[in-house]
Amino acid sequence: MGTTGEITLIINGNATEKFISIFSEKVPYAECYFCGKVYITSNINYITNEELDNYRKLGAESPNKYFVTQDYSLIDTFKFLDEIAVIGCKCGADVNIEKWVNDHKDKLQAYIA
Ligand SMILES: [Zn+2]
Repeated sequence: MGTTGEITLIINGNATEKFISIFSEKVPYAECYFCGKVYITSNINYITNEELDNYRKLGAESPNKYFVTQDYSLIDTFKFLDEIAVIGCKCGADVNIEKWVNDHKDKLQAYIA
């Protein structure tokens, strides 16, 4: 583990690689609509040093809300009902949504056909 409020998003146990490869949009930072946690890249190609310092301060003050990636990666997100879900978020929204898609696969295919 890194300093307080810093994380590495772990894909294992979250949405599958197939789901991510089809639905993911990578962004510098995102707030998960489903739980309010905020994820921020530490890659200064996508965020200013001032913004990063600000988010690290917020992370130190609210370690359960703000998470700065340790590995410079961008944040994987996808839109669901016009709201942003963060892939790999601790709330598991991505897993639940992918499970819903799988549970309703037959109905979705019938609807699309
Ligand atoms: Zn979440």
